[in-house]
Amino acid sequence: MVPENIPELPFEHFLCFEEVAAFAAELARSCPELVTLSTIGESREGRPLQLLTITDSTTGPATEKPAYLIHGNIHAAELSGTHAALFTARQLVIDHANSDLLTDIAFYIIPRINPDGAEFVVTTSGTVRSRTDRTQERPNTLYQQDLNGDGLILTMRIQHPDGPLALDPDDPRLLVRRRKDTPPPYYRTLPEGLIHDWDGGEAITIEGRGFDWNRNWSYDWRPEPEQHGAGDYPFSEPEMRALAEFIHSHPKIFGILGYHNGPNGTLRPPSTGADTDLDQGDVLRMQELAEIGEKHTGFPVIPVVKYHRATSRDINLRGHFHNFGYHHLGLFVFEFELGTLVNSAGIKTEEIFAVSSDQEYEALMRRVLAWWDEQTERDQIFRAWTPFEHPQLGLIELGGLLGRHMAGPTLKELRTIAANTYRFTLDHAGDHPKVVVEDVCAEHVDGTVYRIRARVANRGQFPTHITNKGRSLRRLQTVQVAFYPGSGVRLVSAEGHRNLGHLPGLTGSRVLEWFIAAEGAGEDLCTVHVDGGTGGNTAVTIPRPSCP
Ligand SMILES: [Zn+2]
Repeated sequence: MVPENIPELPFEHFLCFEEVAAFAAELARSCPELVTLSTIGESREGRPLQLLTITDSTTGPATEKPAYLIHGNIHAAELSGTHAALFTARQLVIDHANSDLLTDIAFYIIPRINPDGAEFVVTTSGTVRSRTDRTQERPNTLYQQDLNGDGLILTMRIQHPDGPLALDPDDPRLLVRRRKDTPPPYYRTLPEGLIHDWDGGEAITIEGRGFDWNRNWSYDWRPEPEQHGAGDYPFSEPEMRALAEFIHSHPKIFGILGYHNGPNGTLRPPSTGADTDLDQGDVLRMQELAEIGEKHTGFPVIPVVKYHRATSRDINLRGHFHNFGYHHLGLFVFEFELGTLVNSAGIKTEEIFAVSSDQEYEALMRRVLAWWDEQTERDQIFRAWTPFEHPQLGLIELGGLLGRHMAGPTLKELRTIAANTYRFTLDHAGDHPKVVVEDVCAEHVDGTVYRIRARVANRGQFPTHITNKGRSLRRLQTVQVAFYPGSGVRLVSAEGHRNLGHLPGLTGSRVLEWFIAAEGAGEDLCTVHVDGGTGGNTAVTIPRPSCP
Protein backbone atom coordinates (compact mmCIF):
# COMPACT_ATOMS: atom_id res chain seq x y z
CA MET A 1 0.00 0.00 0.00
CA VAL A 2 1.35 3.42 -0.92
CA PRO A 3 1.50 5.55 2.20
CA GLU A 4 -0.81 8.52 1.77
CA ASN A 5 1.22 10.96 3.79
CA ILE A 6 4.53 10.32 2.05
CA PRO A 7 6.24 13.72 1.63
CA GLU A 8 6.80 15.32 -1.76
CA LEU A 9 10.42 15.85 -2.77
CA PRO A 10 10.53 19.25 -4.47
CA PHE A 11 13.12 19.74 -7.23
CA GLU A 12 12.91 23.52 -6.98
CA HIS A 13 15.93 24.68 -5.04
CA PHE A 14 19.01 23.25 -3.38
CA LEU A 15 18.18 21.80 0.03
CA CYS A 16 19.83 23.19 3.13
CA PHE A 17 20.59 20.84 5.99
CA GLU A 18 17.34 21.62 7.82
CA GLU A 19 15.32 20.76 4.70
CA VAL A 20 17.15 17.48 4.13
CA ALA A 21 16.64 16.55 7.79
CA ALA A 22 12.96 17.53 7.70
CA PHE A 23 12.31 15.46 4.57
CA ALA A 24 14.12 12.42 6.01
CA ALA A 25 12.18 12.69 9.27
CA GLU A 26 8.87 13.06 7.46
CA LEU A 27 9.60 10.07 5.22
CA ALA A 28 10.37 7.97 8.29
CA ARG A 29 7.20 9.16 10.03
CA SER A 30 5.08 8.43 6.96
CA CYS A 31 6.01 4.78 6.88
CA PRO A 32 7.66 3.60 10.10
CA GLU A 33 7.54 -0.10 9.18
CA LEU A 34 9.67 0.64 6.09
CA VAL A 35 11.86 3.61 7.00
CA THR A 36 14.08 4.26 10.00
CA LEU A 37 16.01 7.50 10.44
CA SER A 38 19.22 7.34 12.46
CA THR A 39 22.73 8.74 12.32
CA ILE A 40 26.13 7.14 11.70
CA GLY A 41 28.02 9.89 13.50
CA GLU A 42 28.55 13.60 13.56
CA SER A 43 30.18 16.00 11.19
CA ARG A 44 33.16 18.05 12.31
CA GLU A 45 30.83 21.00 12.96
CA GLY A 46 28.42 18.78 14.90
CA ARG A 47 25.71 18.08 12.34
CA PRO A 48 24.25 14.55 12.40
CA LEU A 49 25.29 12.28 9.51
CA GLN A 50 21.83 11.04 8.72
CA LEU A 51 21.08 7.50 7.61
CA LEU A 52 17.80 6.26 6.19
CA THR A 53 17.41 2.50 6.57
CA ILE A 54 14.75 1.22 4.22
CA THR A 55 13.45 -2.32 4.45
CA ASP A 56 10.22 -4.11 5.26
CA SER A 57 10.85 -4.58 8.96
CA THR A 58 7.92 -7.00 9.24
CA THR A 59 10.08 -9.51 7.33
CA GLY A 60 13.15 -9.10 9.52
CA PRO A 61 15.60 -6.44 10.61
CA ALA A 62 17.91 -4.71 8.14
CA THR A 63 21.01 -6.21 9.74
CA GLU A 64 19.88 -9.73 8.78
CA LYS A 65 19.39 -8.91 5.09
CA PRO A 66 21.62 -8.29 2.09
CA ALA A 67 22.12 -4.53 2.00
CA TYR A 68 22.80 -1.83 -0.58
CA LEU A 69 24.45 1.44 0.42
CA ILE A 70 24.01 4.81 -1.28
CA HIS A 71 25.88 7.96 -0.28
CA GLY A 72 25.71 11.44 -1.74
CA ASN A 73 27.47 14.78 -1.53
CA ILE A 74 31.00 13.80 -0.42
CA HIS A 75 32.03 16.83 -2.44
CA ALA A 76 30.44 19.94 -1.02
CA ALA A 77 29.24 21.52 -4.26
CA GLU A 78 27.86 18.25 -5.64
CA LEU A 79 24.41 18.84 -4.25
CA SER A 80 22.54 16.81 -6.89
CA GLY A 81 23.51 13.62 -5.05
CA THR A 82 21.40 14.55 -2.04
CA HIS A 83 18.32 14.97 -4.21
CA ALA A 84 19.03 11.75 -6.12
CA ALA A 85 19.55 9.77 -2.89
CA LEU A 86 16.35 11.14 -1.35
CA PHE A 87 14.48 10.38 -4.58
CA THR A 88 15.58 6.74 -4.31
CA ALA A 89 14.56 6.55 -0.64
CA ARG A 90 11.10 7.89 -1.38
CA GLN A 91 10.59 5.79 -4.51
CA LEU A 92 11.58 2.58 -2.73
CA VAL A 93 8.80 3.23 -0.23
CA ILE A 94 6.25 3.95 -2.97
CA ASP A 95 7.28 0.94 -5.08
CA HIS A 96 7.11 -1.45 -2.13
CA ALA A 97 3.44 -1.95 -3.02
CA ASN A 98 4.49 -3.78 -6.21
CA SER A 99 7.88 -5.23 -5.33
CA ASP A 100 9.46 -7.81 -3.04
CA LEU A 101 12.77 -5.97 -2.94
CA LEU A 102 12.32 -4.53 0.58
CA THR A 103 11.18 -7.93 1.79
CA ASP A 104 14.50 -9.43 0.75
CA ILE A 105 17.03 -6.66 1.23
CA ALA A 106 17.75 -3.40 3.05
CA PHE A 107 18.89 -0.06 1.69
CA TYR A 108 21.16 2.23 3.66
CA ILE A 109 20.88 5.74 2.26
CA ILE A 110 23.09 8.59 3.45
CA PRO A 111 21.83 11.53 1.41
CA ARG A 112 24.41 14.06 2.61
CA ILE A 113 27.63 12.66 4.01
CA ASN A 114 29.17 16.16 4.01
CA PRO A 115 26.54 18.37 5.66
CA ASP A 116 29.05 21.07 6.68
CA GLY A 117 30.57 21.64 3.25
CA ALA A 118 27.20 21.39 1.54
CA GLU A 119 25.71 23.98 3.89
CA PHE A 120 28.46 26.46 2.96
CA VAL A 121 27.78 25.92 -0.75
CA VAL A 122 23.97 25.95 -0.47
CA THR A 123 23.91 29.15 1.55
CA THR A 124 26.75 31.12 -0.11
CA SER A 125 27.60 29.47 -3.45
CA GLY A 126 31.21 29.65 -2.27
CA THR A 127 33.89 27.15 -3.23
CA VAL A 128 34.98 24.19 -1.11
CA ARG A 129 35.94 20.71 -2.32
CA SER A 130 35.02 18.69 0.80
CA ARG A 131 36.41 20.77 3.63
CA THR A 132 38.66 23.79 4.03
CA ASP A 133 40.64 24.19 7.21
CA ARG A 134 40.11 27.72 8.51
CA THR A 135 41.24 27.10 12.07
CA GLN A 136 44.48 29.00 11.55
CA GLU A 137 44.20 32.16 9.48
CA ARG A 138 47.45 32.78 7.68
CA PRO A 139 48.92 36.03 6.32
CA ASN A 140 48.28 37.00 2.69
CA THR A 141 45.50 34.42 2.46
CA LEU A 142 42.07 35.21 1.07
CA TYR A 143 39.18 33.73 2.99
CA GLN A 144 35.84 33.68 1.20
CA GLN A 145 33.23 35.97 2.67
CA ASP A 146 30.17 37.87 1.50
CA LEU A 147 31.19 41.52 1.39
CA ASN A 148 28.32 43.31 -0.38
CA GLY A 149 25.58 41.86 1.79
CA ASP A 150 23.78 39.79 -0.89
CA GLY A 151 24.54 36.58 1.02
CA LEU A 152 26.56 35.19 -1.88
CA ILE A 153 30.23 34.63 -2.48
CA LEU A 154 30.70 35.90 -6.01
CA THR A 155 33.82 36.53 -8.11
CA MET A 156 35.87 39.70 -7.65
CA ARG A 157 37.38 41.01 -10.87
CA ILE A 158 40.19 43.44 -10.45
CA GLN A 159 41.72 45.52 -13.24
CA HIS A 160 45.45 45.02 -13.43
CA PRO A 161 48.00 45.54 -16.21
CA ASP A 162 49.23 41.96 -15.72
CA GLY A 163 45.71 40.51 -15.67
CA PRO A 164 45.49 37.25 -17.64
CA LEU A 165 41.79 37.76 -18.45
CA ALA A 166 39.80 40.21 -20.58
CA LEU A 167 36.17 40.85 -21.53
CA ASP A 168 34.71 38.39 -24.00
CA PRO A 169 33.89 40.49 -27.11
CA ASP A 170 31.07 38.04 -27.98
CA ASP A 171 29.48 37.82 -24.53
CA PRO A 172 30.62 40.53 -22.11
CA ARG A 173 29.30 38.55 -19.14
CA LEU A 174 32.24 36.20 -19.62
CA LEU A 175 35.94 36.68 -19.14
CA VAL A 176 38.30 35.12 -21.65
CA ARG A 177 42.00 34.39 -21.64
CA ARG A 178 44.10 37.40 -22.70
CA ARG A 179 45.95 36.98 -26.01
CA LYS A 180 48.62 39.14 -27.62
CA ASP A 181 46.15 41.22 -29.62
CA THR A 182 43.52 41.51 -26.89
CA PRO A 183 42.68 45.15 -26.07
CA PRO A 184 42.54 46.28 -22.41
CA PRO A 185 41.09 46.32 -19.78
CA TYR A 186 42.77 43.25 -18.30
CA TYR A 187 41.57 41.50 -15.17
CA ARG A 188 42.61 39.26 -12.37
CA THR A 189 39.94 37.37 -10.46
CA LEU A 190 39.63 36.22 -6.86
CA PRO A 191 36.72 34.79 -4.91
CA GLU A 192 34.78 37.39 -2.92
CA GLY A 193 36.46 37.76 0.43
CA LEU A 194 39.07 39.46 2.59
CA ILE A 195 42.81 38.91 2.62
CA HIS A 196 43.99 38.09 6.12
CA ASP A 197 46.94 40.17 7.35
CA TRP A 198 47.77 41.32 3.82
CA ASP A 199 51.15 42.90 3.20
CA GLY A 200 49.86 44.51 0.00
CA GLY A 201 51.94 42.22 -2.21
CA GLU A 202 50.98 40.25 -5.29
CA ALA A 203 51.19 36.77 -3.81
CA ILE A 204 47.79 35.91 -2.39
CA THR A 205 46.93 32.38 -1.33
CA ILE A 206 43.29 31.40 -1.68
CA GLU A 207 41.82 29.79 1.42
CA GLY A 208 43.23 27.38 4.00
CA ARG A 209 44.23 23.79 3.38
CA GLY A 210 41.75 21.88 1.25
CA PHE A 211 40.54 18.34 1.78
CA ASP A 212 39.04 16.00 -0.81
CA TRP A 213 37.32 13.20 1.03
CA ASN A 214 37.29 11.03 -2.05
CA ARG A 215 41.08 10.82 -1.56
CA ASN A 216 40.87 9.89 2.15
CA TRP A 217 40.01 6.16 1.77
CA SER A 218 42.45 3.51 2.83
CA TYR A 219 43.40 1.65 -0.36
CA ASP A 220 46.63 3.06 -1.81
CA TRP A 221 46.27 6.26 0.22
CA ARG A 222 49.11 8.73 -0.39
CA PRO A 223 49.93 11.92 1.50
CA GLU A 224 50.18 15.36 -0.02
CA PRO A 225 51.78 16.38 -2.26
CA GLU A 226 51.55 12.95 -3.92
CA GLN A 227 47.77 13.14 -3.74
CA HIS A 228 46.10 16.52 -3.50
CA GLY A 229 43.43 16.75 -0.79
CA ALA A 230 44.40 13.42 0.78
CA GLY A 231 44.14 14.49 4.43
CA ASP A 232 46.62 13.48 7.12
CA TYR A 233 46.03 9.72 7.05
CA PRO A 234 43.34 7.33 5.75
CA PHE A 235 39.99 8.20 7.36
CA SER A 236 41.46 11.24 9.12
CA GLU A 237 38.20 13.01 8.27
CA PRO A 238 35.52 12.07 10.84
CA GLU A 239 32.75 11.83 8.23
CA MET A 240 34.73 9.32 6.12
CA ARG A 241 35.74 7.45 9.26
CA ALA A 242 32.10 7.19 10.30
CA LEU A 243 31.17 5.90 6.86
CA ALA A 244 33.99 3.34 6.82
CA GLU A 245 33.06 2.13 10.31
CA PHE A 246 29.45 1.85 9.26
CA ILE A 247 30.39 -0.19 6.19
CA HIS A 248 32.70 -2.49 8.13
CA SER A 249 30.14 -3.04 10.90
CA HIS A 250 27.54 -4.01 8.28
CA PRO A 251 29.08 -7.03 6.57
CA LYS A 252 25.91 -7.78 4.61
CA ILE A 253 26.44 -4.74 2.39
CA PHE A 254 26.89 -6.21 -1.09
CA GLY A 255 26.75 -3.12 -3.31
CA ILE A 256 27.56 0.57 -3.01
CA LEU A 257 26.66 3.59 -5.11
CA GLY A 258 28.04 7.10 -4.66
CA TYR A 259 26.53 10.24 -6.16
CA HIS A 260 28.71 13.02 -7.52
CA ASN A 261 28.58 15.90 -9.98
CA GLY A 262 30.90 16.22 -12.91
CA PRO A 263 30.35 15.78 -16.64
CA ASN A 264 27.79 12.99 -16.61
CA GLY A 265 29.13 9.46 -16.50
CA THR A 266 28.65 6.00 -15.01
CA LEU A 267 31.97 5.54 -13.22
CA ARG A 268 33.48 2.21 -12.30
CA PRO A 269 36.86 1.07 -10.89
CA PRO A 270 39.77 1.21 -11.16
CA SER A 271 40.76 4.65 -9.87
CA THR A 272 44.47 3.91 -10.34
CA GLY A 273 46.38 1.85 -12.88
CA ALA A 274 44.39 -0.12 -15.40
CA ASP A 275 41.78 -2.87 -15.79
CA THR A 276 44.63 -5.38 -15.95
CA ASP A 277 45.27 -4.75 -12.21
CA LEU A 278 41.88 -6.29 -11.42
CA ASP A 279 40.50 -9.80 -11.77
CA GLN A 280 39.46 -10.20 -15.39
CA GLY A 281 36.10 -11.77 -14.56
CA ASP A 282 35.36 -8.92 -12.17
CA VAL A 283 36.19 -6.35 -14.84
CA LEU A 284 33.75 -7.99 -17.27
CA ARG A 285 31.00 -8.14 -14.65
CA MET A 286 31.48 -4.55 -13.45
CA GLN A 287 31.49 -3.34 -17.04
CA GLU A 288 28.26 -5.24 -17.69
CA LEU A 289 26.65 -3.68 -14.60
CA ALA A 290 27.91 -0.21 -15.49
CA GLU A 291 26.42 -0.62 -18.98
CA ILE A 292 23.04 -1.11 -17.32
CA GLY A 293 23.67 2.28 -15.70
CA GLU A 294 24.48 3.77 -19.10
CA LYS A 295 21.36 2.18 -20.61
CA HIS A 296 19.09 3.78 -18.00
CA THR A 297 20.77 7.18 -17.81
CA GLY A 298 22.55 7.72 -21.12
CA PHE A 299 25.66 8.51 -19.04
CA PRO A 300 28.69 6.86 -20.65
CA VAL A 301 30.54 4.12 -18.77
CA ILE A 302 33.97 5.43 -17.81
CA PRO A 303 36.57 3.76 -15.57
CA VAL A 304 37.72 6.41 -13.07
CA VAL A 305 41.26 6.40 -14.53
CA LYS A 306 39.77 7.50 -17.89
CA TYR A 307 37.55 10.27 -16.48
CA HIS A 308 39.55 13.19 -17.85
CA ARG A 309 39.99 15.48 -20.80
CA ALA A 310 41.11 13.90 -24.04
CA THR A 311 44.43 15.76 -23.87
CA SER A 312 45.26 14.45 -20.39
CA ARG A 313 47.00 11.20 -19.50
CA ASP A 314 45.08 8.59 -17.52
CA ILE A 315 44.66 9.74 -13.93
CA ASN A 316 45.61 7.95 -10.71
CA LEU A 317 43.40 8.95 -7.80
CA ARG A 318 44.95 7.63 -4.61
CA GLY A 319 42.75 6.89 -1.62
CA HIS A 320 39.68 6.93 -3.86
CA PHE A 321 36.42 5.26 -2.89
CA HIS A 322 36.31 3.00 -5.96
CA ASN A 323 39.58 1.21 -5.27
CA PHE A 324 38.63 0.92 -1.58
CA GLY A 325 35.27 -0.59 -2.53
CA TYR A 326 36.77 -3.14 -4.87
CA HIS A 327 40.09 -4.02 -3.22
CA HIS A 328 39.15 -3.68 0.46
CA LEU A 329 35.47 -4.56 0.43
CA GLY A 330 35.41 -6.94 -2.55
CA LEU A 331 32.30 -5.25 -3.96
CA PHE A 332 31.16 -3.83 -7.25
CA VAL A 333 30.98 -0.12 -6.48
CA PHE A 334 29.86 2.62 -8.80
CA GLU A 335 29.53 6.36 -8.88
CA PHE A 336 27.18 8.37 -10.98
CA GLU A 337 28.51 11.70 -12.08
CA LEU A 338 25.10 13.33 -12.35
CA GLY A 339 26.18 16.01 -14.79
CA THR A 340 26.87 19.73 -14.74
CA LEU A 341 25.01 22.73 -16.12
CA VAL A 342 27.09 22.30 -19.29
CA ASN A 343 25.41 18.90 -19.80
CA SER A 344 22.01 20.52 -19.23
CA ALA A 345 22.86 22.93 -22.06
CA GLY A 346 22.90 19.90 -24.38
CA ILE A 347 26.66 19.43 -24.46
CA LYS A 348 27.73 15.82 -24.05
CA THR A 349 30.49 14.60 -21.74
CA GLU A 350 32.58 13.46 -24.72
CA GLU A 351 32.44 17.01 -26.08
CA ILE A 352 33.36 18.54 -22.72
CA PHE A 353 36.35 16.21 -22.40
CA ALA A 354 37.37 16.91 -26.00
CA VAL A 355 38.02 20.58 -25.18
CA SER A 356 41.74 21.10 -25.67
CA SER A 357 42.29 24.87 -25.65
CA ASP A 358 41.14 28.02 -23.87
CA GLN A 359 39.35 29.11 -27.05
CA GLU A 360 37.36 25.88 -27.20
CA TYR A 361 36.45 26.20 -23.53
CA GLU A 362 35.34 29.80 -24.04
CA ALA A 363 33.19 28.78 -27.02
CA LEU A 364 31.59 26.11 -24.85
CA MET A 365 30.75 28.63 -22.11
CA ARG A 366 29.18 30.97 -24.70
CA ARG A 367 26.94 28.09 -25.75
CA VAL A 368 25.94 27.50 -22.14
CA LEU A 369 24.94 31.12 -21.63
CA ALA A 370 23.13 31.27 -25.00
CA TRP A 371 21.16 28.16 -23.96
CA TRP A 372 20.44 29.66 -20.56
CA ASP A 373 19.15 32.89 -22.16
CA GLU A 374 16.52 30.82 -23.99
CA GLN A 375 15.20 29.11 -20.88
CA THR A 376 11.92 30.40 -19.55
CA GLU A 377 12.13 28.67 -16.17
CA ARG A 378 15.59 29.13 -14.84
CA ASP A 379 17.65 29.88 -11.77
CA GLN A 380 19.75 33.03 -11.62
CA ILE A 381 23.10 31.49 -12.49
CA PHE A 382 24.76 34.81 -13.33
CA ARG A 383 25.12 38.04 -11.35
CA ALA A 384 25.89 41.20 -13.33
CA TRP A 385 29.33 42.69 -12.72
CA THR A 386 28.79 45.53 -10.26
CA PRO A 387 31.31 48.09 -8.96
CA PHE A 388 32.28 47.59 -5.34
CA GLU A 389 34.66 49.44 -3.05
CA HIS A 390 36.75 46.64 -1.53
CA PRO A 391 38.27 47.60 1.84
CA GLN A 392 41.68 46.27 0.76
CA LEU A 393 41.72 46.22 -3.04
CA GLY A 394 39.93 49.50 -3.74
CA LEU A 395 37.41 49.76 -6.58
CA ILE A 396 36.68 46.32 -8.05
CA GLU A 397 33.65 44.57 -9.55
CA LEU A 398 31.61 41.74 -8.06
CA GLY A 399 29.62 39.31 -10.18
CA GLY A 400 29.94 36.28 -12.41
CA LEU A 401 28.56 32.77 -12.56
CA LEU A 402 27.34 31.02 -9.42
CA GLY A 403 29.46 27.97 -8.66
CA ARG A 404 26.69 26.01 -6.96
CA HIS A 405 24.51 26.28 -10.06
CA MET A 406 27.29 25.48 -12.53
CA ALA A 407 28.23 22.32 -10.60
CA GLY A 408 25.09 20.35 -11.40
CA PRO A 409 22.33 19.87 -13.96
CA THR A 410 19.19 21.98 -13.65
CA LEU A 411 16.93 20.76 -10.86
CA LYS A 412 14.16 20.17 -13.39
CA GLU A 413 16.40 17.81 -15.35
CA LEU A 414 17.70 16.27 -12.13
CA ARG A 415 14.27 14.83 -11.38
CA THR A 416 14.48 12.73 -14.59
CA ILE A 417 18.11 11.84 -13.92
CA ALA A 418 17.27 10.69 -10.38
CA ALA A 419 14.48 8.48 -11.75
CA ASN A 420 16.96 6.93 -14.21
CA THR A 421 19.69 6.27 -11.66
CA TYR A 422 17.02 4.73 -9.41
CA ARG A 423 16.32 2.18 -12.14
CA PHE A 424 20.01 1.27 -12.16
CA THR A 425 19.93 0.82 -8.39
CA LEU A 426 16.95 -1.52 -8.71
CA ASP A 427 18.84 -3.62 -11.26
CA HIS A 428 22.14 -3.66 -9.34
CA ALA A 429 20.47 -4.28 -5.98
CA GLY A 430 18.12 -6.82 -7.57
CA ASP A 431 21.13 -9.07 -8.28
CA HIS A 432 21.68 -9.52 -4.51
CA PRO A 433 22.72 -12.93 -3.24
CA LYS A 434 19.86 -14.72 -1.51
CA VAL A 435 20.61 -17.57 0.86
CA VAL A 436 17.65 -19.87 1.49
CA VAL A 437 16.99 -23.25 3.10
CA GLU A 438 15.17 -25.67 0.82
CA ASP A 439 14.05 -29.31 0.73
CA VAL A 440 13.86 -29.62 4.47
CA CYS A 441 13.07 -33.16 5.49
CA ALA A 442 12.99 -35.08 8.78
CA GLU A 443 12.92 -38.83 8.39
CA HIS A 444 12.46 -41.42 11.12
CA VAL A 445 15.32 -43.94 10.93
CA ASP A 446 14.84 -46.29 13.86
CA GLY A 447 13.85 -46.12 17.51
CA THR A 448 14.44 -42.50 18.59
CA VAL A 449 16.77 -41.68 15.71
CA TYR A 450 15.86 -39.22 12.96
CA ARG A 451 17.72 -38.05 9.91
CA ILE A 452 17.43 -34.32 9.11
CA ARG A 453 18.21 -33.08 5.63
CA ALA A 454 18.19 -29.60 4.22
CA ARG A 455 19.59 -27.84 1.20
CA VAL A 456 21.22 -24.48 1.83
CA ALA A 457 21.31 -22.57 -1.44
CA ASN A 458 22.09 -19.15 -2.89
CA ARG A 459 19.25 -18.38 -5.29
CA GLY A 460 20.35 -14.78 -5.87
CA GLN A 461 22.36 -13.64 -8.90
CA PHE A 462 25.58 -12.64 -7.17
CA PRO A 463 27.73 -15.23 -5.40
CA THR A 464 28.01 -14.61 -1.66
CA HIS A 465 31.57 -13.37 -2.25
CA ILE A 466 30.16 -10.90 -4.83
CA THR A 467 33.44 -10.45 -6.71
CA ASN A 468 36.27 -12.87 -7.37
CA LYS A 469 38.38 -10.45 -5.36
CA GLY A 470 35.93 -10.82 -2.47
CA ARG A 471 36.46 -14.57 -2.24
CA SER A 472 39.79 -14.03 -0.50
CA LEU A 473 38.77 -11.11 1.73
CA ARG A 474 37.90 -11.89 5.35
CA ARG A 475 35.33 -9.12 5.40
CA LEU A 476 32.91 -11.02 3.15
CA GLN A 477 31.68 -13.70 5.51
CA THR A 478 31.19 -17.26 4.39
CA VAL A 479 27.89 -19.09 4.83
CA GLN A 480 27.67 -20.52 8.35
CA VAL A 481 25.08 -23.05 9.45
CA ALA A 482 24.32 -23.52 13.13
CA PHE A 483 22.36 -26.59 14.20
CA TYR A 484 20.41 -26.46 17.48
CA PRO A 485 18.68 -29.65 18.67
CA GLY A 486 15.25 -29.13 20.23
CA SER A 487 14.55 -29.78 23.88
CA GLY A 488 15.13 -33.44 24.75
CA VAL A 489 16.91 -33.96 21.43
CA ARG A 490 20.56 -35.00 21.13
CA LEU A 491 22.84 -34.65 18.14
CA VAL A 492 24.32 -38.04 17.29
CA SER A 493 26.11 -37.24 14.03
CA ALA A 494 29.65 -36.00 14.34
CA GLU A 495 29.08 -32.47 13.19
CA GLY A 496 26.39 -29.94 14.08
CA HIS A 497 27.48 -26.52 12.92
CA ARG A 498 28.93 -26.20 9.42
CA ASN A 499 30.95 -23.62 7.55
CA LEU A 500 29.86 -23.92 3.92
CA GLY A 501 32.32 -21.42 2.52
CA HIS A 502 30.94 -19.19 -0.21
CA LEU A 503 28.06 -20.19 -2.46
CA PRO A 504 27.95 -19.33 -6.18
CA GLY A 505 24.93 -17.40 -7.42
CA LEU A 506 21.70 -19.13 -8.53
CA THR A 507 23.07 -22.68 -8.65
CA GLY A 508 25.21 -22.78 -5.52
CA SER A 509 23.87 -25.18 -2.93
CA ARG A 510 24.93 -27.77 -0.34
CA VAL A 511 22.80 -30.62 0.99
CA LEU A 512 23.35 -31.06 4.72
CA GLU A 513 22.49 -34.03 6.84
CA TRP A 514 22.31 -34.57 10.62
CA PHE A 515 21.33 -37.51 12.76
CA ILE A 516 19.60 -36.88 16.06
CA ALA A 517 18.15 -38.91 18.88
CA ALA A 518 14.81 -37.50 20.01
CA GLU A 519 14.36 -38.98 23.45
CA GLY A 520 12.24 -36.25 25.01
CA ALA A 521 8.71 -35.22 24.24
CA GLY A 522 9.44 -31.83 22.56
CA GLU A 523 7.52 -30.93 19.40
CA ASP A 524 10.50 -29.50 17.52
CA LEU A 525 13.40 -31.71 16.48
CA CYS A 526 15.78 -28.87 15.74
CA THR A 527 16.36 -25.38 14.43
CA VAL A 528 18.81 -24.58 11.66
CA HIS A 529 20.19 -21.03 11.64
CA VAL A 530 21.96 -19.87 8.52
CA ASP A 531 24.16 -16.77 8.55
CA GLY A 532 24.43 -16.30 4.84
CA GLY A 533 26.88 -13.40 4.82
CA THR A 534 25.87 -11.03 2.02
CA GLY A 535 23.09 -13.51 1.19
CA GLY A 536 21.22 -12.71 4.40
CA ASN A 537 20.27 -14.74 7.44
CA THR A 538 17.53 -17.30 7.62
CA ALA A 539 16.34 -19.98 10.02
CA VAL A 540 14.03 -23.00 9.92
CA THR A 541 12.59 -24.95 12.77
CA ILE A 542 11.91 -28.59 11.94
CA PRO A 543 9.00 -30.25 13.76
CA ARG A 544 8.76 -33.93 14.65
CA PRO A 545 7.05 -35.66 11.69
CA SER A 546 3.47 -36.57 12.54
CA CYS A 547 3.80 -40.16 11.22
CA PRO A 548 7.21 -41.47 12.19
ZN1 LIG B 1 32.58 14.32 -6.63
